[in-house]
Amino acid sequence: MSQLQQHITPRGRFAPSPSGYMHLGNAFSVLLSWLSIRSANGEFLLRFEDLDDRCLKSEYRESIIEDLHWMGIDWDGEVLVQSTRSDVYEAALKRISRCANVYPCFCTRADLHAASAPHASDGTPIYAGTCYGMSKIDASEHAKARNPSLRLHVPDTYISFCDAHMGPYEQNLKYECGDFVVRRSDGVFAYQLACVCDDIASGVTQIVRGSDLLSSTPRQMYLYELLGAEVPEYCHHPLLIAPDGRRLSKRNADLEIQRIRNRGTSAEELIGVLAHYAGLLEQTQPVKVSELIEGFSWEKVPRHEIVVQWT
Ligand code: GLU
Repeated sequence: MSQLQQHITPRGRFAPSPSGYMHLGNAFSVLLSWLSIRSANGEFLLRFEDLDDRCLKSEYRESIIEDLHWMGIDWDGEVLVQSTRSDVYEAALKRISRCANVYPCFCTRADLHAASAPHASDGTPIYAGTCYGMSKIDASEHAKARNPSLRLHVPDTYISFCDAHMGPYEQNLKYECGDFVVRRSDGVFAYQLACVCDDIASGVTQIVRGSDLLSSTPRQMYLYELLGAEVPEYCHHPLLIAPDGRRLSKRNADLEIQRIRNRGTSAEELIGVLAHYAGLLEQTQPVKVSELIEGFSWEKVPRHEIVVQWT
């Protein structure tokens, strides 16, 4: 470790999308990100990624905050809300456009699927490059009929990194991802760009999140490069899955933290179950989050998906 690095306080974050109530999977994620950073004496930030359908979200934001307080999870500083930060994303987009090709794309969702391109590992079609290289004249003609999204052209290059928990990961940006949207046709900035801008602006040094976002990481690393910022440490954790093999999601309403609380479960009981899933407790037993800091180690956390048997 260099002398400079020794003085940097580790900083992590939890960045939920307030599109619903917090569920067991979110609680597992925040527990791991909080423990990882608190066990390194670092700072922990909270950010709401509310760029989608922003008007509905204040109720969900409040309930997430309430659930975090109930779990005993604390954070440092102001809560960041993405829907208030368009200027930051706009400035970043300008900067990126100076050193890379950001171009308007007029393809509809139907066009994208019809292009029968191969699909990326997250299920989205890899962009076939239909609008890449379109002349300015053609683009202004198309713009009369439809607002374009903006895509970032990616090079034919491999991005590799070593995830601190999942190990080595590599992706060819062109063939496994394709040119990706940085601003949607309705003007909303895309998750990939907003997330990177905020992590840079907040000085986040460690990103802990679910392994479903592993395949987004090379795109985000490319954005770090274009924005001239240092890439943080990535640490992707395994997902909790339902006994039917599906990911826990907002569909599993009975696993919402609010409902679990309303059924009379204490915070310590819930943390005990999550800590057991995370390999931090041999048996499920009530525990406070603060009691898990000392014994926390990523070595104990499984790398495979964890089947939830919650009733
Ligand atoms: N907002 C994303 C989610 O709720 C998390 C993004 C991230 O941690 O980078 O799944």
